[in-house]
Amino acid sequence: IRKIGILTSGGDAPGMNAAVRAAVRTAIGFDMEVIGIKRGYNGLIHGDFIALDAGAVGDMIQRGGTFLYTARCMEFMEEAGQKKAFEMAKKHGIEGIVVIGGDGSFRGAEKLSAMGLPTVGIPGTIDNDIVCTEYTIGYDTACNIGMEAIDRLRDTAQSHEKCSLIEVMGRKAGHLALEVGIAAGASAILVPEKEYDIKNEICRNITEGQKKGRTHHIIIMAEGCRDKVQDVAEIIEKETGISTRVTVLGHIQRGGAPTVRDRVVATRMGYFAVELLRAGRGNRLVAMKGNALTDYNINEGLMMKKSIDETLYTICQTVAR
Ligand code: ADP
Repeated sequence: IRKIGILTSGGDAPGMNAAVRAAVRTAIGFDMEVIGIKRGYNGLIHGDFIALDAGAVGDMIQRGGTFLYTARCMEFMEEAGQKKAFEMAKKHGIEGIVVIGGDGSFRGAEKLSAMGLPTVGIPGTIDNDIVCTEYTIGYDTACNIGMEAIDRLRDTAQSHEKCSLIEVMGRKAGHLALEVGIAAGASAILVPEKEYDIKNEICRNITEGQKKGRTHHIIIMAEGCRDKVQDVAEIIEKETGISTRVTVLGHIQRGGAPTVRDRVVATRMGYFAVELLRAGRGNRLVAMKGNALTDYNINEGLMMKKSIDETLYTICQTVAR
């Protein structure tokens, strides 16, 4: 394999640049040429390419976001778009593609592989919601940013003796909420994977905590919970009489310089992905299992199951009171 392409697609995540950098430099080490494809599958369809040499990815490892830009591409959802993308890759002599993104991006990668263009997916999302891997690039940074933001909110909640209800990201999964909540010392964490009872459980704990002398309360809610954060705040205020402020962290959690863990995992995954392509293996997803890297067939990888960490949840129920 002499020439590969690399793209970032779907939601951005800190550490994507580190993965691109590692993939580019690994490929160059194997005497391959590397083409950077801009704005995900959009760039592939329209030939929006830049040649990447070792220098082009310098000064990138510490940057959040993705310098290749990312996008959602409706045209690529259709067979006609996929064919255009395939032809464009062929025209430019691209013999394999590294796709950094989430589930949707991998479904697209699978389509290209089926047409005869080998692809390897690297999991990049702050939500850690890709089922075949224990870790996704960006997750640790998002956890740390979430924790720092909540530490700040705690100062004001403590001073005013209030309840602070904070919505964290995570799409349909509660991984981010659970870890951020534990790290920030929340008194309750609501995740979509678990039943909760706001009146009888959360509010009662707040009232009991108050009786025992607790002056402020930090409650974490995952964005994937079925209840609306404002509604929950109203119930808490009504039931406990404690003034409750809502903060939605939103995209704050997606930005910023990647942490050590994200830079290192991204570098390992970028290297691993290029090794797979070099070994002639396409239609693969890079995954982490117990701190080792492995790979799965894309379809099989996307069909696996993953739940939130039960032990961590139990610990949290015990400690967060
Ligand atoms: P993520 O990769 O973060 O899950 P999306 O689900 O938005 O983000 O997917 C990113 C892009 O991948 C889409 O805009 C589209 O171009 C492509 N894609 C998503 N699903 C499919 C699919 N089933 N078939 C082909 N391409 C897809």
